[in-house]
Amino acid sequence: MKDTNCIFCKIANGEIPSKTLYEDDNFRIILDLGPATMGHALILPKEHYANLFELPDETAGEVMKVAKKMAGKMMERLGCEGLNVVQNNGELAGQTVFHYHMHLIPRYRTDGQSIGWKPQEISSEELDKIYRRICQ
Ligand code: AMP
Ligand code: ZN
Repeated sequence: MKDTNCIFCKIANGEIPSKTLYEDDNFRIILDLGPATMGHALILPKEHYANLFELPDETAGEVMKVAKKMAGKMMERLGCEGLNVVQNNGELAGQTVFHYHMHLIPRYRTDGQSIGWKPQEISSEELDKIYRRICQ
């Protein structure tokens, strides 16, 4: 299904032009227009899913395969020394476009970016509690 108000539906399906790096029946990979680094790309499914939780299992599997292929090509062609795979779900997690997408962010020694978090300390009791909440 497509969402007529969704800009990534329009881009993924070619109604709005984009710098397309790859396309098949299910996905389009485009260059991000607000790139974190040189070559920052987005993998867009052609169907509209708002986020990871709406993604069918099959699409979730496929997206990782195209990510792996494109990430390898970028490493080879761009001369980056690392690459972050980032995928935000929900406003609080930094999602700004509510059509599932996966970021491929090539990393260069001097790119001045930092994609990370501040590690917190945690006790083994707290770890147990969290484990029980998720798994039991
Ligand atoms: P997120 O914050 O995970 O939702 O990521 C949205 C990304 O989409 C950002 O990196 C934006 O720079 C990018 N973006 C927004 N609009 C466009 C567009 N029209 N074409 C390409 N990239 C876009
Ligand atoms: Zn959409």
